[in-house]
Amino acid sequence: MYDAIVIGAGPAGSTAARTLAEKGYRVLLVERFKMPRYKSCSGQLIQKTLDLVEAYFREPVPEATMCTPTENRGVILTDDRGNTFRFEQSGRNVWRSTFDQWLADKAASAGAEIRDDTAAIACEERAGVVTVTLKSCGRTYTEQAPYLIDGEGVTGMLKRKLTGREPKFITTYQTYNRGTIDLDPHYFYAWLQSDLSQYDAWFNVKDGQLVMGVSVRDSDQVNEYFSKFIAYMQDRHGLRIERELKKDRWLMHRVQPGCVIDHGVGRVFFAGETAGFLNPMGEGVSSAIESGHQLATAMLDHFDDPKAVLAAYASSVEPLRAYMKRQWHLVSGMSDAFRDMKL
Ligand SMILES: Cc1cc2nc3c(=O)[nH]c(=O)nc-3n(C[C@H](O)[C@H](O)[C@H](O)COP(=O)(O)OP(=O)(O)OC[C@H]3O[C@@H](n4cnc5c(N)ncnc54)[C@H](O)[C@@H]3O)c2cc1C
Repeated sequence: MYDAIVIGAGPAGSTAARTLAEKGYRVLLVERFKMPRYKSCSGQLIQKTLDLVEAYFREPVPEATMCTPTENRGVILTDDRGNTFRFEQSGRNVWRSTFDQWLADKAASAGAEIRDDTAAIACEERAGVVTVTLKSCGRTYTEQAPYLIDGEGVTGMLKRKLTGREPKFITTYQTYNRGTIDLDPHYFYAWLQSDLSQYDAWFNVKDGQLVMGVSVRDSDQVNEYFSKFIAYMQDRHGLRIERELKKDRWLMHRVQPGCVIDHGVGRVFFAGETAGFLNPMGEGVSSAIESGHQLATAMLDHFDDPKAVLAAYASSVEPLRAYMKRQWHLVSGMSDAFRDMKL
């Protein structure tokens, strides 16, 4: 019997696991993929994320997790009328596989038990105990704890089963390429024109690879939009692709007006993207770390009372939700695609 079982070794799950384990709680952290696992991500850590890592992991993000250029100097955004805005702010450029492995290692060194290559496939709460069904290498078995932290990320399969609600998704598609372009590799570029994507299109550089992506509401149209975006980049920014190295298609949480957050059901609590946290342009690592930490802190403070955990968690992440709402409000004026996110 553990004190808490955490599902998902992303930033939310590993932060929650570490926060509990370092206070002596028995924690099992379960990850469905073999670590280090791939996660589609631009890997831009904003200053807020770097500060949270220092505060909760008591170490700066290590160089070993970074790719070149290691410094991200901010975001250059083009709105749907073609106006360009620069948001200057120093951040870091990481590979998510190594960054997330480092976070999980920190949870392990605090005492959490990590089981990768293991998927949670169901959970059930009865008489103050949550039983989780796990599957690994064809074997199905159960583990129990008074609390379950669901940090599954965007898919949130356990949450869907528990709440019966179907989340809304954005489909993302990006490719990694060798080639040349006339854009500054130190910035993350985003375009909000409706002819290039149904959400946003982006460009950034990782270890010399040119990464370009689009996000759409209608997944059937992803290739069509991507082709238009590549043509735009060739025309406007002199893009020349020598070789496509890798591509991925992923899902992202489609944030609804009001930025609704699901905190939990009974003794199962949600953190990170599963809870509904995601800032514009898909910045989600900061809120995953912060919500994971706040949830674990609420548990530490009210371990014997799940209702008090829920109330404390909801109140401590309210500033995070308010920040998220303000950020979405800001982009609602930049593109018709986000008009309904106006406050
Ligand atoms: C294309 C793209 C680009 C992005 N770029 C950025 C960026 O530059 N900066 C930024 O801050 N954010 C970015 N994001 C958002 C960011 O990746 C997420 O918001 C963040 O990873 C959320 O963290 P999390 O811990 O909630 O979930 P995740 O990081 O998704 O972690 C969830 C983990 O749970 C595991 N899991 C899922 N289901 C189960 C299960 N049933 N059993 C066991 N394990 C399970 C998954 O394998 C995964 O490892 C981007 C997202 C996308 C799609």
